[in-house]
Order: sequence, then C-alpha cells, then structure tokens
Amino acid sequence: MKKRVLLTLLITSGIITSLSACAEKTVPTVSDETVTTEYISTTIPIPDGPVGIVASTDNSYSENTTEEAVMPSVTDETSSQITSETTSETVMEVTNNKGIETINGITYIDGVLIVNKTYSLPKDYNPGVDATAESAFKKMQSAAASEGLNIYISSGFRSYDYQSGLYERYAQRDGYAAADRYSARPGHSEHQTGLAFDLNSIDDSFADTREGKWVAENCHKYGFIIRYPKGKEEITGYMYESWHIRYLGVDMATKVYESGKTLEEYFGITSEYDE
Ligand SMILES: [Zn+2]
Repeated sequence: MKKRVLLTLLITSGIITSLSACAEKTVPTVSDETVTTEYISTTIPIPDGPVGIVASTDNSYSENTTEEAVMPSVTDETSSQITSETTSETVMEVTNNKGIETINGITYIDGVLIVNKTYSLPKDYNPGVDATAESAFKKMQSAAASEGLNIYISSGFRSYDYQSGLYERYAQRDGYAAADRYSARPGHSEHQTGLAFDLNSIDDSFADTREGKWVAENCHKYGFIIRYPKGKEEITGYMYESWHIRYLGVDMATKVYESGKTLEEYFGITSEYDE
C-alpha cells in the first residue's frame, strides 16, 4: 500500500515520467549530440609564431598531430613547406614565409582568403557572390561558349545557415563521416566566401565532359583553380570535385595551377577539423 502511494506520488509529481522519458531520450541522442558538438570550434590560444601570427579568438588552429601519419604519400614534395614541428604532446604550428593573418575571424594567407576544415568563417559572414569572381566567371563562360561549350554556375554563394541545413541533410542520409568527405560543415564551406562556384552537373560525370576538361585546363587563365583535385583528399579534406572552382585572381590561380599543388600544399597548411 505504501509502495502504491509512493508510486502514485512520484507519477503525479512527474518524477517517474520524466525519468523514463529521460532514459528513453538520452540513449539514442548521446551519439547525435556528440557528433553535432564535436565540430564546434574550441578556442585554442595561439602562440605568436616566429613570423608573427595574428590571432583572433574566433580562429581555431588544429593541433595537427596526425598530419605526418595521414599523408605520407604526398609529404615528400611538400615536407619543406609544412613546417609544423611535432613533439610528443604539443604541436607548434609555424607558418612559412607566408604569414597567416586573421582579420575579424577570417583567415588570409598572402592576401588569399582561406577556408577549409582547419580554417573557418564567422557565422555572420554573409558577403553574397563576389562581384569580381562573378565577372571573371562570365568572361570564362564567354570564352568557353566561343568554343561551343556551355558552362554555368549551379551553386554559388551559400550562407552559413544554408550550408548548415545542407550538411545536416547529407549527414542524416549518409552518416557524418561520409558527409565530411564531400560536404563542408557550416562555417567551413568555401561557398560562404562567395568566391567558389559549382559548375554544371555537380557530379563526377562533369570531369569527362568537354566542358569539364576545358575548365580543368583553362580556368586558371580566368583566376580560378580546381579546388579539390583528384587524389588529394588527404590534403584538401575533400573528395575530387571536378566541378568546384575557387576564384583566386589570375596571378595567384596561375601560380597555384603551375605548381601542380593544392591550395593547402601551396601555402603549407592543413585541412582538418579540430576534433
Ligand atoms: Zn562546391
């Protein structure tokens, strides 16, 4: 009798119901919560490196302890550029002679805005399509058209919030690990810069079209690079995307193109989430 009264009291007071609801909820959502909070940038105090890294509190530098282990096949060429010194616990990220500069939470190297898995953009950075990049694209589009080729932008500027929804949908469909190979987490998308465009079909078939081949060979002349080249996933953080071009300006794009390197290799930086 006492037990029944106590039970009734507990139910009436909501203790039991809330407990059971809690138990039901916490089990399945623990992993979700872990995944969604994993990529929330934690602020790591950045020591001033020898070249005087300008740091803001928004910026998160990854402690890149796995760098050497992850990309052994490609570091031969780039090891001279990647000057991180690994000790047992701490990694001091040191830039080469090109200084990393952070202004209002936005990272620049040699004047080039950098966004990848290591370097993010503030949530409220919402510039829209970059006018210079857009006019450069139109010039390229005309040049392609004169050769009978049709290239067009299928996805240009994407806001933080838009990217957030997009990434989440991919993650729900394919899982977070798989989504991370082809979709940027919010704040990490180059599309948020207004300087990146996805062309035509936005799929693997683009690489083998006449348009895709023309873009790969010529886009640097108009200031663009293929940002995520084939076989460079360990460096750029993304699978090959023949359709994703990034505006750098003609001089820089030509230099990067002629180097045969990814933007990460060119500047000696990483692209890894801080998790
Ligand atoms: Zn893209």
